[in-house]
Amino acid sequence: MILRELKLKERKMDIELEKKLFKSYPKLFPKGRSVNPKESLICFGIECGDGWFDLINKLCHCIQKYLDDNDMVQVVVVQVKEKFGGLRFYAHNTDTLIDGMIWFVEHNSFNVCELCGEQGVLRDNHNWYRTLCEECYKKWKKK
Ligand SMILES: [Zn+2]
Repeated sequence: MILRELKLKERKMDIELEKKLFKSYPKLFPKGRSVNPKESLICFGIECGDGWFDLINKLCHCIQKYLDDNDMVQVVVVQVKEKFGGLRFYAHNTDTLIDGMIWFVEHNSFNVCELCGEQGVLRDNHNWYRTLCEECYKKWKKK
């Protein structure tokens, strides 16, 4: 149980980095974590490691710029997490182009270490998948 809690904890992005995202993109994250869990799972925060901060930051930047430039209906992010070793980014009001941006970044996450942001590859630890660099993989295996 303790081990499981530890692993779960590890999946959360550093709170300061998360705040930075919420502050940089107030329209994508209008209430931060203060949302009804029935409406949006962003109430649990950004559920992946710090290594993907850049990917998420750039994705949010591109989405918001595209919306502003084209005077479009505002997109709202409802969940950001790691699943089967890759980034998952869920949002409302997306169009085909935004879905493409998200698809591109989600696929890119399989080359970026989720914990430190260095180049990573998909690793398997007893059927638990994560995209990690060599160093982080060693640390992860020890746990
Ligand atoms: Zn790493």
